[in-house]
Amino acid sequence: PFDVLVVGGGPAGAAAAIYAARKGIRTGVVAERFGGQVLDTMSIENFPSVEYTEGPKLGASLEAHVRSYGVEMINGQRAAELIPAPETGGLFGVRLESGATLKAKSIILATGARWRQTGVPGEEALRNKGVTYCPHCDGPLFKGKRVAVIGGGNSGIEAAIDLAGVVDHVTVLEFDSKLRADDVLQKKLASLPNTAVHLNAQTTEMVEKNGKLGGLKFTDRVSGESRNVDVEGCFVQIGLLPNTEWLTGAITLSPRGEIEMDARGATSIPGVFAAGDATTEPFKQIVVAMGSGSTAALSAFDYLIRTSTP
Ligand code: FAD
Repeated sequence: PFDVLVVGGGPAGAAAAIYAARKGIRTGVVAERFGGQVLDTMSIENFPSVEYTEGPKLGASLEAHVRSYGVEMINGQRAAELIPAPETGGLFGVRLESGATLKAKSIILATGARWRQTGVPGEEALRNKGVTYCPHCDGPLFKGKRVAVIGGGNSGIEAAIDLAGVVDHVTVLEFDSKLRADDVLQKKLASLPNTAVHLNAQTTEMVEKNGKLGGLKFTDRVSGESRNVDVEGCFVQIGLLPNTEWLTGAITLSPRGEIEMDARGATSIPGVFAAGDATTEPFKQIVVAMGSGSTAALSAFDYLIRTSTP
């Protein structure tokens, strides 16, 4: 059995594996796709000490770093069930969709998250060509340009306020008849001169112009009218879905499905730790996920030296 089995191979899982392996304990990583969301990222400009890199490049260096410690890597496999240890210090099981079960004295859950997509025509083709999901990552790419934010919840309105300071103009499209963001955010947005809000706006298409996003089409759900906004950027902010469906019932999840954890990465089950975008960690960023993975690994090591004989 493994001393530590990390489920997930994104920045959080990779950092956890490196920290665990450096303690000289038997470490494994099982991941559906090693690299995680990073692989879908074009340019990364906020990873401190690296001015510019690209997702696939960062993914490959993470993999090489993990491999250099002799971590056992099981790639292309999806975890389907967490089987609790029969007693504290006992072995946990992680059953894979393929049917095999991996055993470990401690587990780190780092299965990340995925952005909810609108599903409208053009979204897939224009992803990273104007269509984006991460204002912290891509806001500066649209300096001086007109952008839209789809979604009027807290993340959408926070994004709009953030972007208003960087871009020329921000249009918020909200499907509902009112914004759902906190009042204080709505007031702040209303005070910014270079923003506009369309309520009852159902986005119907992301329109291409010269190989990039050129605008959005939406239907006003009250008048039934079809309208256009000319934008070069569109930030989709309609939710981040944690990849935790497989943990329902096994571990405490927040109402949004995030794994509940404390500042040490401990979950509701002793011996099971968590890290990164799959958890209640408030900010979903590479550097945050890596910090969180390192914390989880150090906590798992702490648990092992207290509960098991090497
Ligand atoms: P993920 O990266 O989501 O990794 C999750 C891992 O778990 C993957 O290996 C996945 O295959 C695996 N997995 C999921 N379910 C299972 C399962 N059931 N069984 C086994 N394995 C499973 N952040 C920045 O800091 N800067 C940026 O510039 C930036 N740009 C971004 C651009 C895009 C397009 C996207 C989508 C995100 C961007 N982010 C950026 C956010 C950043 O990528 C995430 O915060 C970070 O990857 C989270 O790391 P993680 O390890 O928690 O999860």
